[in-house]
Amino acid sequence: MHAASYLADSALIGAEVLDGVRIDIDADGRIAALHPGAAPGDVARLAGLVVPGLPNLHCHAFQRAMAGLAERAGPEGDNFWRWREVMYRFLAALTPEDVQAIAAQTYAEGLCHGYTSAAEFHYLHNAPDGTAYAEPAELALRIVAAAEAAGVGLTLLPVLYRHGGFGAAPAAAGQRRFLLDRDGFAALCGAMARHVPIGIAPHSLRAVGPDDLAWACELAAAFGPATPVHLHVAEQAQEVADCLAWSGARPVAWLLDHAPVDARWCLVHATHVDGDECARLAASGAVAGLCQTTEANLGDGIFPLRPYLAAGGRFGVGSDSNVSASPVEELRWLEYVRRLESRARNVTETRPGASVGASLLARAASGGAQALGRPAGTLAVGNMADLVVLDPAHPALIGRHGTALLDAWVFSGNTTPVAHVMVGGTWVVRNGAHVRGPAIAASFARTMRRLAAAL
Ligand SMILES: [Zn+2]
Repeated sequence: MHAASYLADSALIGAEVLDGVRIDIDADGRIAALHPGAAPGDVARLAGLVVPGLPNLHCHAFQRAMAGLAERAGPEGDNFWRWREVMYRFLAALTPEDVQAIAAQTYAEGLCHGYTSAAEFHYLHNAPDGTAYAEPAELALRIVAAAEAAGVGLTLLPVLYRHGGFGAAPAAAGQRRFLLDRDGFAALCGAMARHVPIGIAPHSLRAVGPDDLAWACELAAAFGPATPVHLHVAEQAQEVADCLAWSGARPVAWLLDHAPVDARWCLVHATHVDGDECARLAASGAVAGLCQTTEANLGDGIFPLRPYLAAGGRFGVGSDSNVSASPVEELRWLEYVRRLESRARNVTETRPGASVGASLLARAASGGAQALGRPAGTLAVGNMADLVVLDPAHPALIGRHGTALLDAWVFSGNTTPVAHVMVGGTWVVRNGAHVRGPAIAASFARTMRRLAAAL
């Protein structure tokens, strides 16, 4: 690619919206220089506000195709564990071609809403009968191909999944596509690191025991001192009860006591933390991976976001099960749930006069970038040119200026004002449409029709 320069009407730099910002991008797709107050020159204009793209820090792309399939009332109440059974039945029908088609659609939809990068928590490794594919990295390579087609910035998180529950319980039949031994997992990570940035993802304390967790931490370090480590933790009250029965400790407390949790780590969900765990998690420098729409869909519970932020905790957002493609919906409901809980307004940002929308966006962008290990999340020299341009003529934004534009984006409307999206210096969304949208959508439609007939 070539170096390029643009003049943005305005841009979010740090926590401030500045007018007339010239953005120089180098041939590697990074921001080379920022010039606020630049005079109009002969560079291309970006009409509207430019903001840093949002990293999606937790995604299971294939679940996009089962969104809406688990919304029928069960015989006696319903819960996460019945949803998981539906998911296991669904994925038994997925072919490698399906995985690629669904992932490309998921990433393209996310880009159109402002997710410029994604951490794919990839635990689908084997054929439906549990045997390895002829190419053991078949499905991971499909994810990479989908990310390349969509143009999203990918951090691939191969998942280590060993057991069906705490105490090395045997895996169920529905989990056999996930299982890898240590050699198979290390080989997969090594193979994929040649294609894309990777992190290491021990699935959960349910699926990975203490010895394998320690081994996975060593493996992560072998890929470099900044290699991200992600795991699901404390999503469900049942998981807390099972962890207490197994170890005498709550899941997040156990993890903080037994693993080197620091700024490389992303604790996905961490929904059920007590006051002590919340403070310790904030102090660790790790990122809490909050997936509000999925957590709401699954009835997980409510993360104590306000005390966590008061303790200096960092967070990012993830589309997780992909019931929503919009980072704005995640942020909106992060705030709304706490308003409903506290019967108050403007609760996740407490500095008088500060913009709640700008605060949520900036925190989620920088926390997400930290979790992905991607130099991004702020408009700053040296970071990837992951840019989202908001349409100033969108009805939600007309007449708004400065950070009021961000409050309008986060808290009003049901259509997106995202006009153009750039990832690493390349435009992937123009005038609200993905540049390869029709081909990606056609492939997704073929897969959805095949799955509808197969299920
Ligand atoms: Zn997940």
